[in-house]
Amino acid sequence: MAEEPKETAPGFLNPVAGFGVTFKAMFKKRLTEQYPEQRKTTAPRFHGRHQLNRHPDGLEKCIGCELCAWACPADAIYVEGADNTDEERYSPGERYGRVYQINYARCILCGLCIEACPTRALTMTNEFELADATRADLIYTKEQLLAGLEDGMVDSPHAIYPGTDEQDYYRGLVTEAAPGTERQVAHTQGEVPQEGESTFGEDEPASEKVIRP
Ligand code: SF4
Ligand code: SF4
Repeated sequence: MAEEPKETAPGFLNPVAGFGVTFKAMFKKRLTEQYPEQRKTTAPRFHGRHQLNRHPDGLEKCIGCELCAWACPADAIYVEGADNTDEERYSPGERYGRVYQINYARCILCGLCIEACPTRALTMTNEFELADATRADLIYTKEQLLAGLEDGMVDSPHAIYPGTDEQDYYRGLVTEAAPGTERQVAHTQGEVPQEGESTFGEDEPASEKVIRP
């Protein structure tokens, strides 16, 4: 015959005992964060939104090699490279990233893409507010990801610093745009909508945003 369970407290106290948990919690440290009124400072190496970096003269570091896209376990990056010309130069070398998209509906912010990037073109910022209302708005374009212009920079496309080559840029020998550097006419520039089916699938259409119309 099964033993009767022992009563730990008189039955009439049971409803009150339940409040014991509530009562104990009242004296514990509060974990609630008052976001967005109070924002927590993220750790210095926090994995937030990506950024496409520039050289100190404003040319882009991305060479359109797609290594970041291949390294991504979530298939969240779409890159299309193109050739630079003397009339329209976006990066010091042969190629540049003409189209660059990151799909934040897929990205798990793991950072494998930035490890794979051979030019340190791709890094991550501390920005974490990436929520949006539609899937299409969560696909960030090159325009959104490209770093802003700092002192001494001229926006791409423009000519390489006279007397230097691609390797000088990576050796850190170019520290600002050459005097008189002018922005070239951007004929091929523009993140046009992809012609084929979206590589992200039917439910995640390619972004239709156009960069610098
Ligand atoms: S952080 Fe990770 S998931 Fe996001 S794009 Fe880079 S490799 Fe892909
Ligand atoms: S961000 Fe880096 S890895 Fe990705 S295409 Fe550009 S250069 Fe290549």
